Amino acid sequence: MEKLWRNITILLIMIVISISTTTHTIQAYNKLNTSQYNGLYTYICDVDYDGVTKVTITYDSYITSGRSWLLVPRNFTKYTLTVISGSIVHEEVKRAYTKEGEEFAFYDNFTFTYLGDSNFKLKLNYTMDNGALIVEPRCFFYSPQIYFNPADTGIVYIYLPGDSKVLEGNVQPPPTSITFEDGKQKITIKLQTNSARIAIEYTTSRPGNLKTYSKGIFEVITPHRYMDIAENLIRTYETFYTNLTKIFSVNLTSIRIIFFAPRMADLGTGGYIPFNGTHLGNIYLNLLYTRTVQGFWEQIALHELIHHFTWAAGISPNVLWLHEGLAEYLSIKLTMNMGWTGALSRVKTLENIAKQLSDNYGFVQWWNPLQTPSNILSYYAASYIIVKTVVEENGGISFLQKLFREIKGTTISDTNTLIHYMSIAAGRDLTLKFISFGFKVTEESEIYKMIVEAKYALMKKRWAQPFALIANWLLDTSINMLSSGNIILAKIIGWIGIFISMLAVTLTVALWGGILVLLTMKVRGEDEL
Ligand SMILES: [Zn+2]
Repeated sequence: MEKLWRNITILLIMIVISISTTTHTIQAYNKLNTSQYNGLYTYICDVDYDGVTKVTITYDSYITSGRSWLLVPRNFTKYTLTVISGSIVHEEVKRAYTKEGEEFAFYDNFTFTYLGDSNFKLKLNYTMDNGALIVEPRCFFYSPQIYFNPADTGIVYIYLPGDSKVLEGNVQPPPTSITFEDGKQKITIKLQTNSARIAIEYTTSRPGNLKTYSKGIFEVITPHRYMDIAENLIRTYETFYTNLTKIFSVNLTSIRIIFFAPRMADLGTGGYIPFNGTHLGNIYLNLLYTRTVQGFWEQIALHELIHHFTWAAGISPNVLWLHEGLAEYLSIKLTMNMGWTGALSRVKTLENIAKQLSDNYGFVQWWNPLQTPSNILSYYAASYIIVKTVVEENGGISFLQKLFREIKGTTISDTNTLIHYMSIAAGRDLTLKFISFGFKVTEESEIYKMIVEAKYALMKKRWAQPFALIANWLLDTSINMLSSGNIILAKIIGWIGIFISMLAVTLTVALWGGILVLLTMKVRGEDEL
């Protein structure tokens, strides 16, 4: 973790906290109806062009004595604490837990008992290096965890550089106001609860300083400020590379990684790789996940690299359950073997969701890169469990090595063929195993393959409307019917969809051509009158 957070010059910066802080606090205190609360927490986050955020937290109370607590940074930065008015009679720093009882990895609980000399005031300062993640023009601010004694109330002020563009809808929780003050954008949020994370998606007009960092087959494209993260990433990839080549029996030729700052919509996306039907694209990694326990970001990064290995080994992303299942299974296994515990939360999530599926995993058979189901985590969880079960029941990593040696030189784009190769690698027929997962091991695989191919073909004919749209709808309906077991209807609709997609261009030309001819004839007709 230390490597991902840059701890330089923190102490120096912390001394230079503006006097205006005090004014904000008192104004806010007056504005809020504080009678029902013991005191007020004011969080001020001042974000600069590199996302470096100066955090100032003040606590104001007008009762003669009291007790409170708040989260303070545990290990990612140092903080200073000053009593401005009144006195602290007892203080304690202890481990902090969420409402659900989970331990905070990056925060401690600072509990204190105070005496107010008419007023008690406490101030806490620290600097957070990546308070905002910035890949110009896109920026994403994600506050430190806010959490304090429920007997108190809180207000947050975020200051962004003056040229930042923020839309009200891109601030979470919803802002009380967005104003311009002292050359900065000021976002005010009156907190409704004692626990919050402020997320702000915004843009900057400053040009970025994009650099390419390359070593061997790896190339990372990143703003210069994240160069150390890029170097660490390549080191991580190199650590596992040889191991992966042994599992997949292939070498990769070149891998490009692009860092991105998330938007509100892809807050939950750790990384992704575009696929256009014939090529697997670059690896995109969400910088927000560098703010996690070691193993979390590495697991995401490895997951994406494993897609490239799986693809190079001959597995089409159309057998998405194997792609995702392997990417999850191997990335988790490899990072956990290093003792990096960050992947643990992913394991917990996947296993909990899988439990709710009560052994019905067959729906992943029709999962393809062109569809994003709303309950996508169920797809990841089921794929992970299938791969884990099959691999571990058949000899572990050596089973995978045998499988990819068998596959070498061919491309597998349907589940039936894959089960055939898996059976060879296992030395026994795995068909029944897959049927027990809920898979359909019959000729439906064929029509599924053709439907997915038709969908990729349609991506290149998007202009051929309305036929491309109709065909796509029919093909999606057919896949949905396959997953719900309505095979005969799925096949009929699938064939009609494939037929229309093949003729989409001709039909479009005929339709619009016809309309044009009719219109021309009409205009000519009008001319004659
Ligand atoms: Zn994936």
